[in-house]
Amino acid sequence: MRADLTICAAYNAFVSTILVTGGAGYIGSNTTLQLLDAGYDVIVADNLSRGHREKVLPERLRQVDLNDTEGLLRVMAEQPIEAVIHFAAYIAVGESMKQPELYFKNNTAGSLSLLTAMVKANVKKIVFSSTAAVYGMPSKVPIPEDLPYAPINAYGESKVMVEQLLRWFDEIHGMKSVCLRYFNAAGADPQGRAGEDHDPETHLIPLMLRAIQTGTPMTLFGDDYPTPDGTCIRDYIHVTDLARAHIAAVKHLSAGGESKKYNVGTGSGFSVKEVLDAVERVTGKKVPHTMGPRREGDPAELVADSSRLRNEQGWSPVYSGIDQIVETAWAWANRPK
Ligand code: UDP
Repeated sequence: MRADLTICAAYNAFVSTILVTGGAGYIGSNTTLQLLDAGYDVIVADNLSRGHREKVLPERLRQVDLNDTEGLLRVMAEQPIEAVIHFAAYIAVGESMKQPELYFKNNTAGSLSLLTAMVKANVKKIVFSSTAAVYGMPSKVPIPEDLPYAPINAYGESKVMVEQLLRWFDEIHGMKSVCLRYFNAAGADPQGRAGEDHDPETHLIPLMLRAIQTGTPMTLFGDDYPTPDGTCIRDYIHVTDLARAHIAAVKHLSAGGESKKYNVGTGSGFSVKEVLDAVERVTGKKVPHTMGPRREGDPAELVADSSRLRNEQGWSPVYSGIDQIVETAWAWANRPK
C-alpha cells in the first residue's frame, strides 16, 4: 500500500496539468484527446453555451464562464497548472457583424478576464486560438505571419485584440504565449472519438455531408471570384493536425520558449468546387447543391505559409489530405447516435 502511494505521488509530480478553455467545443475536444493520449492531465473550463457537455468526462469539466475571473481562479487553485490552452470563443463571422458586442465581450473581454486570473494564479504560459481572419483580405498568398493585422470583421478584430493583450502581458507580466492562427479546421478524430457539431453549422464540409444525408441542397457561395474555377480557395487543416500543433506549442512553452505567432495550415489550397469533388469521390454520393451569390466578407483565397511552424517546431501535417479530411468527417457524420 505504502509503495503504491509513493508511485502515485511520483507519477503526479511528473504529469503536467493543462487547463483547456472551450474543451467542450470542436477543436478543444479534439485537442483534449490528443493531450490525454500524450500523457497530460486536462481540466476543461467551459460555460457550455455553445459546447457539448457529453464531449467532456464529468470529472474533468468545470462549468465556468470566461468573464467570471473568480470562478476561473478557483479552478486554477485546484492544482498547479502548467499551461492554459484557450479555445473558448464565438466563431461565426456573420453573427459577429450583427452582434459585435457578443464577440468583444466573450472573445476579448473574456480573454482579458482569463489573463487576469492567470496572473493572479501565477500561470504564465498560454496557447491561444487565433485565426487567419486577423489578416482580412491578405496582400500576399501564401500568407506569412508578418503581414499586418487587417481584420475585415468583428470576429477577426476580437482575436487581434487578444493577440495585442498577450503582447503586453508578456512585456509586463512575463506571460509567454503561442498564438496559433488557424486556417480551415476540418475532419474528425481518426478513431471516431470527436468531430464537428456546430449549431448552427456554417462550415463547408459538414454542410455538404449534411446535404447528402438529408437531400436538402446546400448553397455554394459564389463562382465569380478571381480563382481558376471561380470559387473561393481555402487551406483545410485536419483537426488532429491542428491539435498536434497545440501540443508542440505547449512543449515549446514548457521548455522556456519565447512568445510566438504561427499560422497553422497545410500550404495547399482547395477551391469550393474541388472540395465538392472530394466529397463526392470519398462518399460515392452526389452533393445536392445550388449556386448562390457571394457570402459577404469572404476573401478569394486564404492559404497559409506555415513554414515558420514547420521549421521552428518540427510540426508538419499528417492527416490533412483532403480525402482523409472528408473520410473522417463522413465517418463522424454517420456515427451511431
Ligand atoms: N461555403 C459555401 N457554402 C456554405 C459554406 C461555406 O460555399 O454553405 C464556402 C465559403 O464561402 C468559403 C468556404 O466555403 O469560401 C469555406 O467556408 P467555411 O465557412 O467553411 O470557413 P471560413 O473560410 O469561413 O472560415
